[in-house]
Amino acid sequence: MLEHNNPNITEYHEYQKPLEMPEHLAFKPLTKATNQVTVRISGRHIHLCPADLYALFGPGYTLHKYKDLNQPGQFAAKETLTVVGPKGVIEGVRVLGPLRDKTQVEISGTDGYHLGVDPPVRDSGDLEGTPGIVLVGPKGAVNLKEGLILAATHIHMHTSDAERLNLRNGDRVQVLIDGERDLIFTKVLVRVSDKFNTEMHIDTDEANAAVIEDGDIVEIIGKFAPM
Ligand SMILES: [Zn+2]
Repeated sequence: MLEHNNPNITEYHEYQKPLEMPEHLAFKPLTKATNQVTVRISGRHIHLCPADLYALFGPGYTLHKYKDLNQPGQFAAKETLTVVGPKGVIEGVRVLGPLRDKTQVEISGTDGYHLGVDPPVRDSGDLEGTPGIVLVGPKGAVNLKEGLILAATHIHMHTSDAERLNLRNGDRVQVLIDGERDLIFTKVLVRVSDKFNTEMHIDTDEANAAVIEDGDIVEIIGKFAPM
């Protein structure tokens, strides 16, 4: 027990009560030392469904690969589109392949400010109730009813890494950016597949806030464990 004479200092033993942690801090520490993940910064981009691809580029059109992305099968296409919002326009927004069931436009909060829209933070594919946006291509325009999001921070994780870290698909983790400006991301979604390369995806606003660069290494320090 600590000895002191200051009545404002609580006796040490009174600190032994379990702490009531706010839910967003209820993380169980990971014990493995090898919990490092490479960061990839995602610029604004567009995933298209076949119908929207044809409306924008012409019937039967196919995307042309510009370069492979780190996730197997995913690629940046040569094709770009203009995104038109109520207050601004962004040209040259990259289309990513392959095609998807639903068109999804991922921008940063700063882009949203420029366009005059306020999309929510969502996991990829969770588009219900999200705002739409106008896309303009060389052969036409599409007025999306929904699909505009700020992509939630996530980690693609190979099955072997997930087993090593005792993580499962859908788990949420806490990630420490130990850099020029320390920052902790909470509730980062872990997506597990034997087709993934393990890496964390953040958008340009997040990268700027954390002062990190593409390829930097960050650390998973806890697993979300609600009480
Ligand atoms: Zn991703």
